[in-house]
Amino acid sequence: MLDWKQQAARKGDVMMATHGHTHHPAWQPDREAGCPSCHRRAWFSYQGEQRWPLRVAQALGVEPVVRLWNCHHCHTTVSEDMLQ
Ligand SMILES: [Zn+2]
Repeated sequence: MLDWKQQAARKGDVMMATHGHTHHPAWQPDREAGCPSCHRRAWFSYQGEQRWPLRVAQALGVEPVVRLWNCHHCHTTVSEDMLQ
């Protein structure tokens, strides 16, 4: 199931971008955290940054730059502020 941010991304409202000149974000260490989707403690892989146009970020009440992580257990991509 897509969450609202992924749905917004598919509609083209946001741009996905990795930070700076880093095209291979694999240097980012995985981290362990509580997953808001499957409610387990799981490992997360860093997926890059999601940059929102400022007016969209303000309208949605989110940060203009959100770091995204992918749950190894349920394969859901979640923003960093949703990790528990
Ligand atoms: Zn999960």
